[in-house]
Amino acid sequence: MRAWISFEPLVDLRTLFLAQTCALAAMASMFWVARTPADRGNGLRTWTLAVTAQGLAYLLLANAGRLPAWASAGLGNALGAVSVALYFVAIRQFLGRRYAKPWLLAMIVIVTAVGAVTGSQYAVATIFNGFVYGLLQLLNGLALWQRPQAELQRVQRVVAACYVLMGLVLPLRAAGLLLAGANIDYLNMPLTWQEPIYIFGFLFVIVTNLGFLQLCKMRAEAEVRQQAMTDGLTGLANRRALNDAMAHALAMAQRSHQPYAVLMADVDHFKRINDQLGHRAGDEALAAFARRLRAALRAQDLPFRYGGEEFCVLLPDTDAAGVRVLAERLRAAVAQPAAAAAPTITASFGATVWQPGDTADTLLGRADRALYRAKAAGRDRVEIEAA
Ligand code: GH3
Ligand code: MG
Ligand code: MG
Repeated sequence: MRAWISFEPLVDLRTLFLAQTCALAAMASMFWVARTPADRGNGLRTWTLAVTAQGLAYLLLANAGRLPAWASAGLGNALGAVSVALYFVAIRQFLGRRYAKPWLLAMIVIVTAVGAVTGSQYAVATIFNGFVYGLLQLLNGLALWQRPQAELQRVQRVVAACYVLMGLVLPLRAAGLLLAGANIDYLNMPLTWQEPIYIFGFLFVIVTNLGFLQLCKMRAEAEVRQQAMTDGLTGLANRRALNDAMAHALAMAQRSHQPYAVLMADVDHFKRINDQLGHRAGDEALAAFARRLRAALRAQDLPFRYGGEEFCVLLPDTDAAGVRVLAERLRAAVAQPAAAAAPTITASFGATVWQPGDTADTLLGRADRALYRAKAAGRDRVEIEAA
């Protein structure tokens, strides 16, 4: 009578290896087709090489018995070791961390030697590699687990968990095989307890590949978002970022009724600097101005380049008296004589304080009127416009 539940293995090792080969070949092809110069810094190119090497390794292993042992065992193990080393490097490139090349090269040489010496005794190489690869996967898992960028945290931790799990599974399987005796006919032995491990291995390849790709994509998107909010010349947040920050600040002020000040600054006679020293010197003067502005602000104050030689600062927890003190401090800071040949520049400041019912337009309008008064009154000064 047929049992309801059968513990007969569903797949054999060669079929699994062939399926791995197909999955890896498909992914490697896609990575090659989709490669871009932007991937140079994130490890994806190294990752693509790793996938390619792993796919070839599985192709050779799947053909064990059909190919001579030096190809399936020797070359297969060598390519496997190369792929493990390349994944290790790719992850470190992505994380911007250093790695020790000599150790990885030594690992490749030793794994290759063991694979070549043991030849068709695949179990021996599998046991040895299990301990070596297990250690490397654990290191990958730990590296990915630490300090993930906030946007990447969830995906990075899932990938890290996969690596940690693999780092535990591989040596445990090696230990299991060791207990079973290394002389077993590895390729033809029933998979039994190894079946879930191989299925996990298959899922591991899919999850880590999709995960790594997703991490590269998410980080690139975060960088583009950051760039879209940043002024290229001064490194300050730009007008677009000001719109977002202003909406947030208005909502906060409305809710908390804490005093909130807005300050506009405009460099005095900036056109003259361009005319007399050239646009390049003008650019440098603007960048220097922004550095001084930022250095003189408190941690909670948010400076923006409003446009041209105009700047805006959002000042939480600041009332009319506070904004005057701060604006005077900024005025004095930016007017300090500049180093060497750089021109000394001054700026005029106009400020106002949030009132219930204010919108971004009314707030900026009042600050702008104050600034206009500072210009009209002779420049290099601070004016406050009450509501
Ligand atoms: P005022 O004291 O009345 O503000 O005089 P101003 O010369 O500073 O004002 P105006 O608005 O007449 O000129 C601003 C100049 O700033 C004109 C523009 O070419 C220059 N400018 C704006 N953005 C940049 C920039 O990114 N780099 C350089 N070099 N110049 C810029
Ligand atoms: Mg101006
Ligand atoms: Mg100006």
